[in-house]
Amino acid sequence: MSFIRRWITALVRLLFPNICLACNTELYAGEHLLCSRCRYSLPYTDHHLFIDNKVNRQLWGRIPSPNAMAFLHFRKGGRVQQIMHQIKYHHQTVLGAMLGSMAAEKLAASSQYQDIDLIIPVPLHWKRLRTRGYNQSECIAQGIAAYLQAPLNTNHLIRHSATSSQTRKNRYQRYENMKSVFAVCDETALKDKHILLVDDVITTGATIEACALELHRCGIRKLSIFALAFAD
Ligand SMILES: [Zn+2]
Repeated sequence: MSFIRRWITALVRLLFPNICLACNTELYAGEHLLCSRCRYSLPYTDHHLFIDNKVNRQLWGRIPSPNAMAFLHFRKGGRVQQIMHQIKYHHQTVLGAMLGSMAAEKLAASSQYQDIDLIIPVPLHWKRLRTRGYNQSECIAQGIAAYLQAPLNTNHLIRHSATSSQTRKNRYQRYENMKSVFAVCDETALKDKHILLVDDVITTGATIEACALELHRCGIRKLSIFALAFAD
């Protein structure tokens, strides 16, 4: 999204706060955060129906038996990019939780995502958390946890070093950049558990790969992975 378009969107939102956070049209009574048209026509992936989905294919050979899905397709300049931008940079934490909850309905309907013991969001480094004030993946995870009635944990997996921006790196450089960034604090708490790891957007999968390898080290029973969006 261009700087000018972002600036105009921010201005429109300031003047007309009751507009759809994905497409900027005015909301009708009874609509909340997203208009009905967006709710019905967002680019949903239906990944939960196929084990052979694009996220799993991306992770094959990189982590043991990947069981992953994304809820939405991410396209540059599209409505999902606007949604992710709102969640990540404009404190729209309720939107994150709402979409998490909508996605949890799909998880609950899939045989691949049953009996989840613990939901863990991809952590931010404490410095980033302090600047932003919240972890966007945690907001999404809260919506999932509320729907599935499963516990959420933000202490077991930590990000112990800040990473430089990933945007200008290729896949190998991203992997190298992420290696050894995450650590598990209490390995026994994760032993034999089915963990659902939650991220906001998957691009190359380097972050998810680094978290997953760290979690698998702790003798977990199963790892499932969820992202709100997938940039393919
Ligand atoms: Zn809309």
